[in-house]
Amino acid sequence: MAHDVTLIPGDGTGPELVAATRRALEATGVAFTWHVRQAGLAEFERSGDPLPAGTLDSIRETRVGLKGPTTTPVAGGFRSVNVELRRQLDLYACMRPCKAYEGVRTRYPGLDIVIMRENTEDLYAGIEYEHGSAGAKAMIELIAELGSSVRADSGLSIKPISVFASERIVEAAFDFAKRNGRRKVTAVHKANIMKFTDGLFLEVARRVAARHGEIEFEDLIVDNLCNQLVSWPDDYDVLVLPNLYGDIVSDLGAGMIGGLGLAGGANVGEHAAVFEATHGSAPTYAGLDKVNPTALMLSGVYMLRHLGEVDAGARLEQSIAEVIRKGEKVTFDLKDDRDDPTAVGTAAFADAVIEELNR
Ligand code: NAD
Repeated sequence: MAHDVTLIPGDGTGPELVAATRRALEATGVAFTWHVRQAGLAEFERSGDPLPAGTLDSIRETRVGLKGPTTTPVAGGFRSVNVELRRQLDLYACMRPCKAYEGVRTRYPGLDIVIMRENTEDLYAGIEYEHGSAGAKAMIELIAELGSSVRADSGLSIKPISVFASERIVEAAFDFAKRNGRRKVTAVHKANIMKFTDGLFLEVARRVAARHGEIEFEDLIVDNLCNQLVSWPDDYDVLVLPNLYGDIVSDLGAGMIGGLGLAGGANVGEHAAVFEATHGSAPTYAGLDKVNPTALMLSGVYMLRHLGEVDAGARLEQSIAEVIRKGEKVTFDLKDDRDDPTAVGTAAFADAVIEELNR
């Protein structure tokens, strides 16, 4: 039976990456019924709504989405479609494997870590007060009443961290570690400074870790983690982090495995899962058939596993890995020289992966 999947092309390079990934997924022999729905800047410009209800409803029905990156205006404009999608569907666990495939230009050959990012709260909660607004004034007054002071011309972003959300993301990290034969979970925080938010995250993480004695546990302050990770990468396995650090460390991990073009991911909740790359819409490359579809294709691999198509997932991952290992039909970012004229485009990379699948 065909799997129903909501397909969101997204903005910038999104449509071409989604087209390439869709072809590779279909070439595995698994049958899909694609429900194409829109979200992002182009949809906002067309309809005035960056995340139409029809798109959310479709994912609620199919329970699975494959999404191209979407553009978020900096500072003003609408709020991030990604943040809203994760919030509306309660996709609380963002899983981002960072695996260095053979043939990739990296100082970290063999790196194979997994980042588990909390996806629903922290500074991403969207509780913000613009400087000079009535909300900001009221909050500043309240803070003064509570005995602290904030400059009158401040803007404010609130950072909520709850026991509930911390517990379920750390549980998800241990669950992932157990199911995938991983040895260790590292909780990452800044509890020395933010005692009541990151401190709470750490306290909950320790409590959850005590329930999973067979998996090693440690915690690290986020700045130290960045230093340790690039110095002693073999010491790390599964990292679990609140939302903002998870976002930043994901890009660090992507850089360590050869770049954003290689970093796939999954946003998973109780009722739905949306698979997407770590990278954004890379708008300067839009329409050029140039960027690397590996990140979205690997997200497709995780989707296949999620759908129970484990064999197809393994075959697709192997085919991608083989194309990268051979290093011939790869995109510019995987060449030693980014101006290498032998680099292929997005569509030709997909052709090469499909050729491997059919071998
Ligand atoms: P970006 O990830 O789009 O691009 C940064 C750089 O990374 C690019 O210039 C390019 O050099 C490289 N890159 C990214 N994807 C690549 C690929 N597939 N192949 C080769 N190289 C690749 O980051 P940005 O420029 O900061 O953000 C652009 C837009 O994307 C912004 O509006 C941002 O809000 C949005 N964004 C969306 C998502 C999402 O939809 N999940 C995630 C991050 C950023």
